[in-house]
This record gives sequence, structure tokens and C-alpha cells, in this order.
Amino acid sequence: MISNRELFLQNTAQTSSSPRLVEVDKAEGVYLYGPQGERYMDLVSGFNVSNIGHRHPKVLEALQQQMEKYLHVTVYGEFVQAPQVMFATELLAVLPSSFASVYFTNSGAEAVEGSMKIAKKFTGRRQIIAAEKAYHGSTQGALSLIGNDAYRSAYAPLLPEIDFIRFNDRSTLDKINHETAAVIIEAVQGEAGVRVPDLDFIRALRQKCNETGTLLIFDEIQTGFGRTGKMFAFEHFDVVPDILMLAKGIGGGMPLGAFVARKEVMDVIKDNPMLGHITTFGGHPMSCAAARASLQVIQEEQLLDAVPEKAARFRELLDSPKIKEIRGLGLMMCIQLESFDQVYAVSNYCAGQGIMIDWYLHCETALRVAPPLTITLPEIEDACKIIRTAIEKFC
Ligand code: PLP
Repeated sequence: MISNRELFLQNTAQTSSSPRLVEVDKAEGVYLYGPQGERYMDLVSGFNVSNIGHRHPKVLEALQQQMEKYLHVTVYGEFVQAPQVMFATELLAVLPSSFASVYFTNSGAEAVEGSMKIAKKFTGRRQIIAAEKAYHGSTQGALSLIGNDAYRSAYAPLLPEIDFIRFNDRSTLDKINHETAAVIIEAVQGEAGVRVPDLDFIRALRQKCNETGTLLIFDEIQTGFGRTGKMFAFEHFDVVPDILMLAKGIGGGMPLGAFVARKEVMDVIKDNPMLGHITTFGGHPMSCAAARASLQVIQEEQLLDAVPEKAARFRELLDSPKIKEIRGLGLMMCIQLESFDQVYAVSNYCAGQGIMIDWYLHCETALRVAPPLTITLPEIEDACKIIRTAIEKFC
């Protein structure tokens, strides 16, 4: 009989020539299980999605309840659907009061697309500025903002009037002027290998946007929902963006994204033309029901409180002269090695020992460590023992 792996290679689109080919039969908490009962500790969280662990019982219960009522009923923005309304209300309640309107999408890239549109329409300007080494998604608008020429040029032409500042470099902020509609920037750069901005930079950026009437848009698609130890990373910097883009960890494992803005900024999509930004599945009731449960879990289980201790334990246990640097904020971490060969060898060894780690799109010389926030200290010890052994062996 032809195996699922063979069918995967044969019948599904391949995004690289070396997929991991780990077959998942089940997932629970911090673990993934293969069809033969193989167990892997998930230190990637499905790329910062499973912040509350896989199949959290509260999420399953919310899905079950919603399933009994309705699935898709109509496009986003038409009917009043309680899961959307309630989640928007609960989300706004954990954000500063300047945020007053939520637009739900299916994914992060769509949140980026929508944010760019409202920024242009609200300001009447066309230029968007992003940061070098940024990653904001793979749709053509989001890809236009990718701070890596290899990815842009392969799919040219992309959006015009995009420029780039250097992340964490105040000297490049002069590019922002009265023609700039928005600056779109990750609160902590993820795919660049976890680059945490200096307070000075982020505050100067806010200041420059204020001076030029430019909207500041934070991409918290990776950093949101507790990943960095705060509900949102901007809380570390005491700087509030004009638009906040969310996805990944928002949905407790279900597909959902959102962009959140002040009322008058969001309202530009209401008319001229009406229905100028619509989506069929955005804010799916099942996803919003799961998102409500997930937000409640983060709050009720006080998952944020334990993040600093867990992150510190990783750093302590991984301390090794063979590691160049451990960067990160909370449980968004990056172990900097010397080469991709080392990263590849270490992550392969770890996978063989039941620990799933990965690397970063724009930083292939570093290991990605982003476990569910629910990981326990003994689980961190187990994982680090194996990672340390791999590093001693291959670096
Ligand atoms: N922004 C950031 C910072 C991301 O890391 C990603 C995905 O990895 C995206 C946007 C795009 O999100 P999605 O893959 O849901 O379109």
C-alpha cells in the first residue's frame, strides 16, 4: 500500500525540496505523536500557533459547543455572529483603549493586506515602509514588505512605493516622511532570528511616525498572545501602535487573523466604495469560538506569569561555549550557532531523539525554540538535555 508520506510527496504541493516528513497522527499538550506512537516534544508550536498547547480541553469544548450551533453562515461583516462579536469585545478589553475596531481574517498575511489598505486610504498616501529582514507573509502585498531581495525578486513585480529601514537603526528613520502612509514592523523580528528592538529605537520610531502623520503598524503575528511573556510585545516597550496585526496564536490552533485599529481608521473601508475589503471565511465562527477559549486559558491559567522563569531555565540549561548567543524575549528564543550545517545536524539529531526544533527563514544559522507556554520545567530539562548533547556532538 502506498504510504501517506509517498502520497504527500506525490499529491501535495511541495514548498521545499527537503520537507521534514514527520507524520502526525495526534497532538496533545506539548507533544506530537506519529502513527507508530513515536512522540516528539514540540518546541516550535506549529510556528508560534500552539501557545496554549495542542488540543487544549477548553478549546475543544468551545469548538464542540459552536459546532452544535452553526459553521459558516455568511461572509464576514454581514450577519451578527456571537463568537465574532464576543471575541472582538474580549480582545479589545485586553488592548489599550485607542483600539476600538477589529477586522477578522483567515491568516496573518491577510491581516497585513487589510492593514496596508486602510493605512493608504486613511492617510491618502501611498508609500509603505518596512524593515530589512522582515517577514510579513507570502501574499503579493505582504511579500512586497519582505526585507530580503531573493524572495522579492523571484516574484516581481510586487507593490510599488515600498522602502526599507534597518531594524533597530535610528539613523534610517529619516526615510519616514510626510508621504509615508505607514511603517509596518514586527514588534520583535521573528524570521530574522529573533531580533528584539532597543527601547530607544522603538520610541524614536513612534515619535517619527507622530511627527509625520504616519501610521505605525505592529506585526504581532508571532509575538502576540503571550509568546514574549506579555499578552502583546508592545507592552514591553510602552509604545502603542496605530494598527495591530494578529494571527497564529490568536486561535488556539484554529485559523484566524485580525487587524485592530482606531474606529476612524477602520471606518475607511465602510464606503467609497462600500464592500471594498471583504472576506468569505475571515472570522469563522469555529475559529472565533476557539480564540475566545484560548484567550480565557491564557488569562485563567496565568500562563504569562511563568514565562520569564521558563525562558530563564532554557538559557541556564543551554549555556555552552559552543553557542554564540541565545537571543529572545520570553519563550520566543533563538540559539545562534555558526553555520547551517550545524543547525541542520543538531535539529535532525533532536528530531531523532523526539525533540522538534527548527530554524528561521532569514537566519538559517540559528535554532528556533518557541514551545507552548504550557511547557513545564521538567519538560524544559528533558528538551535541553537532548539539545545540549546535540550541540556538543555537532558544533
Ligand atoms: N507576520 C509574521 C511576523 C509572521 O511570522 C508570519 C508567518 O510566519 C506572517 C506575518 C504571515 O502569517 P500567515 O502565514 O498566517 O499568513
